[in-house]
Amino acid sequence: MIDENGSALPAHGMPAERVLAEVRELRGRDRPTHGGRLFAYVYDPGVAGLDELAAAAYAESAHVNGLDPTAFPSLLAMENALVGAAARVLGGGPGTSAPEVVGSVTSGGTESLILAVKAARDARPEVTAPRIVVPASAHAAFAKAAHYLRVELDTVPLDPATLRPAVADVAAAIRPETVLVACSAPSYAHGVVDPVERIAEVAATARVRCHVDACFGGWTLPYLRRLGVPVPAFDFAVPGVTSISVDLHKYAYAPKGVSVLLHRDPALRAPQYFAYADWPGYTMVNPVISSTRSGGPIAAAYATLRHLGDDGYLDLTRRTREAVRVLADAVRDVDGLRLVAEPESTVVCFTATDSGPDLFVLVDELAARGWHTQPQLTYAGLPRSVHLTVTAAVAPRAAEFAPDLAEAVAAARAAGPVALPPALLALAGSLSPESLTGDLVAGVAAGLGLGAGGGLPERMAPVNTLLDAAPPALRERLLVEFVSLLQRPSY
Ligand SMILES: *Cc1c(COP(=O)(O)O)cnc(C)c1O
Repeated sequence: MIDENGSALPAHGMPAERVLAEVRELRGRDRPTHGGRLFAYVYDPGVAGLDELAAAAYAESAHVNGLDPTAFPSLLAMENALVGAAARVLGGGPGTSAPEVVGSVTSGGTESLILAVKAARDARPEVTAPRIVVPASAHAAFAKAAHYLRVELDTVPLDPATLRPAVADVAAAIRPETVLVACSAPSYAHGVVDPVERIAEVAATARVRCHVDACFGGWTLPYLRRLGVPVPAFDFAVPGVTSISVDLHKYAYAPKGVSVLLHRDPALRAPQYFAYADWPGYTMVNPVISSTRSGGPIAAAYATLRHLGDDGYLDLTRRTREAVRVLADAVRDVDGLRLVAEPESTVVCFTATDSGPDLFVLVDELAARGWHTQPQLTYAGLPRSVHLTVTAAVAPRAAEFAPDLAEAVAAARAAGPVALPPALLALAGSLSPESLTGDLVAGVAAGLGLGAGGGLPERMAPVNTLLDAAPPALRERLLVEFVSLLQRPSY
């Protein structure tokens, strides 16, 4: 029913029902956001009525503008309430060792990290070539922050046995120009918590800020600890931790568009602000990157936290933990697979043994059985792997995973590994990103079934295999070209 070649602007306006029907039809092509079988991108608590509540709160505030807290005090109040909740969950607030924690609501983890780097950079204006130190497992958003802010990224390698950096290597990477040291609680890829206490200590000794990226785990680790899981200290209870990020649109189960960046005190936050009065329009003061900000995500997050409550999150974390256990056992029980790390948070990450199936084929076989997992490419001595972000909605389905996994492994073994033309693989391994021409990419894309104008192949294993054979710089170029082919306006 949708005109694939149409723009969003018809000559004549359409009735509301028809427009909504279009949106719903388009949405029907997406992966299912509910049902507990999607292990990336979407965080679902599986709580009846929560979507409706969040949507109603969103609608209530969608047109309100966070640009000016004096014009819209509702948003200021809700933002302060969200920051207060996040500070409490992460070891700050009255009666703690970090009573002066302040923060900002941002649009997501990436924005929180960019702002943490910006605040650290601008706190040291005398440093002309600023640098940040991060473990190799740090989220790619740090690289994006470094790129946007012209800060050098010093990456500390991982110990392949623990998937953590050696603290001595972190200390050695700190230079006079280092403005920030960061670590993860936990890392996205493997769900491993870095040695935060010791990293914060070496940062403090060097008088450098230390950011804990708890975008992923900030809303589960504290609850896991209360459930008796051994969780190392990672929050404001750790001296030397100067800022923490936590994404409310992940395990706080708020709709997309909300993260919180916390600082230990207002002075640490000060360089995050941008104010400008040297133009004829309104004087501007922005704590975050966006200036005009919809109240929708803030109100939806506020409603979500109020509705679920502390006891609700504890219960959701308990269910998530149980699902993690069931999924990890399923992996352990299959011949040919092994866990990359023992799950210590809410990630299950596995790889194939030498005699195991082709993981990228397995990912497609799981998708064919309704399980949407996330393939991770070979990186710096670490094998390719499959990532599962586990949320509470998975719990009721978890028992169905083991038989489907066993079946998918058998199917992947029967299908055999992806066989790309050897010349193509050789090209991927040897081509320099600079020598990649548009024609070459179009040819490769066509060969892989990636059509111009939005076409995606049924099976992603060939694409993943090609990317896997390429070094990171070439992967980046190929991805940009592939996505650029998809992103063409419809008229
Ligand atoms: C998701 C994530 C981010 C980035 O968050 P976005 O909301 O996708 O921008 C950063 N760090 C970690 C550890 C994450 O899991």
